[in-house]
Amino acid sequence: MADPAIAIVGAGPAGIRAAEALSRHGLSAILVDEAPKGGGQIYRQPPDSFQGPASSRYGFEARKASALHLTIKRLATAIDYRPSTLAWNVCNGRLDTLCAGRGESVVFDILVIATGAMDRMLPLPGWTLPGVYALGGAQIALKYQGCAIGQNTVFLGTGPLLYLVAYQYAKAGAKIEAVLDVNPAHAKRRALFALASSPRTLAKGIYYRASLGTHGIAVEEGVTPMGIAGTDEVRDVHYRRGSVDKSVRCDAVGLGFGLKSETQDGESTVSGVYLAGDGAGIGGADAAELWGERVGLSIAARCGRRHDASRIAKIDRRLARLARFRAGLERAFPLPLLGSTLPDDTILCRCESIRVGQVKDAIRAFDVVEMNRMKAISRVGMGRCQGRMCGHAAAELLAAETRQDLAAVGRLRGQPPIKPLPMPWPGTP
Ligand SMILES: Cc1cc2nc3c(=O)[nH]c(=O)nc-3n(C[C@H](O)[C@H](O)[C@H](O)COP(=O)(O)OP(=O)(O)OC[C@H]3O[C@@H](n4cnc5c(N)ncnc54)[C@H](O)[C@@H]3O)c2cc1C
Repeated sequence: MADPAIAIVGAGPAGIRAAEALSRHGLSAILVDEAPKGGGQIYRQPPDSFQGPASSRYGFEARKASALHLTIKRLATAIDYRPSTLAWNVCNGRLDTLCAGRGESVVFDILVIATGAMDRMLPLPGWTLPGVYALGGAQIALKYQGCAIGQNTVFLGTGPLLYLVAYQYAKAGAKIEAVLDVNPAHAKRRALFALASSPRTLAKGIYYRASLGTHGIAVEEGVTPMGIAGTDEVRDVHYRRGSVDKSVRCDAVGLGFGLKSETQDGESTVSGVYLAGDGAGIGGADAAELWGERVGLSIAARCGRRHDASRIAKIDRRLARLARFRAGLERAFPLPLLGSTLPDDTILCRCESIRVGQVKDAIRAFDVVEMNRMKAISRVGMGRCQGRMCGHAAAELLAAETRQDLAAVGRLRGQPPIKPLPMPWPGTP
């Protein structure tokens, strides 16, 4: 029997390790990624003209980054690796892709989705002002182009990336006005036991936090963001700490509240479709590499190759330990619930410029209780990001307005193209 056609979307730690495990077992795959070079978010590679030592870009993870980059370079000759290729639709064993303006359909028997994560954004008054960047976007500017998002930057939100990006900016010499964390210090202390399950990662986190202090950067925890002010650009961030209203002047804001999957181990509920890495559930880069390899091994076994039971057991043990660490992070940096507390004139859906008050009116006028109905009535989530930015906040608002659990309001159904495409494509009439 011929080997199955295998396609992998995403050449980050998960996708690369899945392709490598398959290749080790004599199975080839088509690996597509919209980025021009492999590595994913954490080990993103700069353009050739920006080369420099990996240590300055990837810090403590330089060795892992180099190992992964070497793997994708080696694999590129052994498999069908397609960089700069966007996957925009999956349907009936067919993956639709676009590369340099040319559309192509890849037919597959087995699909691995390793598309990673994105910033979890929550709307605030002023969050759509020029100068407000997602934390990940702020990091990409530094990692990919070697530039900062502003002259005087405030980092606002929560999660490990808040401290990591602030540390990276400070280390690169950028001026940071303040780091404002919506979660209080005691949440982190309570999570210490779980976080100690991965002592090296915990130590790095403590180091990043302490190093902000040694750079003289103000870090305030347990703040309530009130809004970002400015007319054509960012001017101040307003927030409350305890009963005191405060503000800090700045020209750029890095904003983010943790990560969310772009979309658990192994096969999904659709036969032949596997999920790996942060796209399946946020676990971090080390877990993504392990998940990718685990999926590759599962597929190899399914194709009749040697069942590597001891390696699988080792991966599962390490994933279980990393899951305990992840649970600690969720305790230390819980997502704040905004519910109906946002002012009515705050933009909720930035693609369609729809404000909180308009959505509340639509919910009441049409007795909306479910997310896709809400989309049809209010257009929230109907724009180019398809709710990837506003979906969570919109669901929270609907749940709060209709006094339902968050899970009960459902989630927005994605429609192809899953990411924006240039139209018309070159060559179309
Ligand atoms: C912006 C950002 C910055 C981060 N920075 C750090 C950090 O500094 N340190 C850290 O420990 N963790 C960081 N993380 C978390 C880290 O990215 C992950 O834990 C790790 O990279 C997950 O690996 P992965 O292979 O699952 O996904 P990723 O590394 O995200 O790789 C997914 C790949 O899929 C590709 N892709 C997605 N959708 C499509 C599509 N439709 N078509 C084609 N290709 C597609 C992407 O281009 C990407 O290369 C960051 C996350 C984000 C979102």
